Amino acid sequence: MKYQPQITADATDIERLFLAQQVAEIGSFDWDLTTGKIWLSPEERLLLGIDDMYLSGKIEDASVFTSIAHPEDGPRMKKYLQEAVKNHLDYDAEFRIITKDKTVKWLKGKGKFFYDESGKAIRLIGVNFDITARKMSENSLQFKAQATRLLSSSLQYEEILHIVCSLAVKYVADWCTVDVVQEYGTISLVAIEHKDPKKISWAKRIRKKNPISISSPTSTARVINTGKPEFYPEITEEMIQAANPTKDQLKILRKLGFSSMMVVPLEIRGKIVGAITFISAESGYHYQPYDFEIAQQLASRASLSLENSALYMEVTQGRERLRKLLSNVPCVVWERYGEPKDGLSPIGFISHYAEELLGYPIANWDTDPYFSHTIIHDDDRARVIQEYQDIYNSGKDGVVRFRWIAKDGRILFVETHCAVIPDAQGNPVGLRGVTMDISSRMELEQRKDDFIAMASHELKTPVTSLRVFTQVLQASLATNTLVKAPIYLERMGKQIDTLAELVSDLLDLSKVQSGKLALHKEEFSIRDLVAETIQTMQPTTKHAINLHKGQDLWVLADRNRIGQVIINLLSNAIKYSPGAKEIDVSVKKKDERVLVRVQDYGIGIPDASKSHIFERFYRVFDATDKTFPGLGIGLYITKEIIERHDGTITLESKLKEGTNFTFTLPIVEKTKG
Ligand code: ADP
Repeated sequence: MKYQPQITADATDIERLFLAQQVAEIGSFDWDLTTGKIWLSPEERLLLGIDDMYLSGKIEDASVFTSIAHPEDGPRMKKYLQEAVKNHLDYDAEFRIITKDKTVKWLKGKGKFFYDESGKAIRLIGVNFDITARKMSENSLQFKAQATRLLSSSLQYEEILHIVCSLAVKYVADWCTVDVVQEYGTISLVAIEHKDPKKISWAKRIRKKNPISISSPTSTARVINTGKPEFYPEITEEMIQAANPTKDQLKILRKLGFSSMMVVPLEIRGKIVGAITFISAESGYHYQPYDFEIAQQLASRASLSLENSALYMEVTQGRERLRKLLSNVPCVVWERYGEPKDGLSPIGFISHYAEELLGYPIANWDTDPYFSHTIIHDDDRARVIQEYQDIYNSGKDGVVRFRWIAKDGRILFVETHCAVIPDAQGNPVGLRGVTMDISSRMELEQRKDDFIAMASHELKTPVTSLRVFTQVLQASLATNTLVKAPIYLERMGKQIDTLAELVSDLLDLSKVQSGKLALHKEEFSIRDLVAETIQTMQPTTKHAINLHKGQDLWVLADRNRIGQVIINLLSNAIKYSPGAKEIDVSVKKKDERVLVRVQDYGIGIPDASKSHIFERFYRVFDATDKTFPGLGIGLYITKEIIERHDGTITLESKLKEGTNFTFTLPIVEKTKG
């Protein structure tokens, strides 16, 4: 029952003072420190929820305090009082008490110590008054400020959850856990905090032993399912029994001594992803509606931070994906603001491939506004800048071709496709482009030109000879001196063969390029084919072509095409070993494959050319060199034929010592009959 203040009209000053205390709900006390007897005013008794007018307790052990104060404040107050007595300070403190009905009250105390002549404290007279409302609003403000500051300081998912738990433990809970739903409906404990860190690993172990899922009969699962927060100001024995715990669970619950609990949902973009549980245990505190509000505020702030974190992750992942994409495409992607002719604006962006291609660190483009100009070939620079400027002025896309000089001095032929960057009004403010290394394309084009020159020359020679022989024959007919006609005709035949060979090579080239090289497969002995080819070619050369004895091996292949391969390899061996006397050919079996090797002792192939030798139009010597005439298509066709038969072709060569080409084909068992 609330204490009712009374006053009469002729009240004394003392009575008025009492009344003022009653109205302001200020409790007063008088503590005789020598006897330990404490007098409590009626208001003080109301404040503390104590019926007796007297309490007793020694200041030294402050047992009176520790019995009524909040477990966290009792020891602190004991220390405070001892210090105050020792240092002759006034009594001025704030502390929490837990009343009989388990509510927490914040009290402010003010008072004065009295000392005897020897300096010993003998009395403490003071007042206490309720400052719970002020403390709560301070607490709430402090919580809000700290939650906002801390939660906005991180974009990391785990860190945010950890902050949530720490804030909870600081302001509202002894325990705080965050549970998140995983795939397949399991609920995992992703963050946990307790006032006593030792208990964290213990709690984790318990959860590991007793996993929960979305269908478990727990408040966490229920809150995740319904999205509605749950508030249990008091956890009674009946509630524990109603949850039907197992023996083990009951033991744990008893040990934990839960006294109050709140579970609030955690959502990201409107979807419930988990729940935060706030537990009051050791403190014995019972949650008030005010705490429930704080818990919900914390959850909604956490949700906001998690949404930001998700957005941030999306953006960074997207950026990272783009960065990877750009650094993996074999082109330099760039963006530059300002007029090209100025070259003063730093490069806005340049993809990492530039570093790989040119050997210069990306920082060079970032720090030196003229760097892009310096790497352009001296002879191209002025033209390139002008062409970029023209594109900038015209506002239309354009293509610029030029040479770049790499850090190691290599010259790269590059082609830039660029577009104008417009501002909001459509005026040009910069250029963005893709620069590709077209050196190999340029080289191929060059080789093609050489090939055309060479092919025309090769075709012209037999045609010229044929014309000469025809004229001679005509003249002989007119003068009736045809004795030498058979010789001329034989020479003409040879020229016609050369022409026919050239034309068939050109035809093969076009067939290979259009993928129309037809194969007519049959079973035949490769050794026989090699022997026959050598026999045909031997009369055309002074080299001794030796066929080393081997097994009789059979293949299923196009006999004419494989014959063409052997002719190609033999004629190259002859052509490129003018000073040698012999050529060795062998046919062997290795790993269920036929292995044919043609070895010459000629000029050899430089290492740098080995990887290009099978490319179209590739020749070690350029078109102007007349020492070894050729078109650079024989090996290209050879490789195509071999690969179309599931075979391989390799070479080994040493300059001035000779070269061997080895091709393999799948072997077949000779079919009987
Ligand atoms: P080509 O008609 O020019 O001989 P190929 O495609 O047959 O065309 O050969 C390509 C190039 O490979 C030749 O130009 C030559 O430089 C080199 N080459 C081919 N075979 C040999 C060899 N046996 N020894 C040295 N160089 C060779």
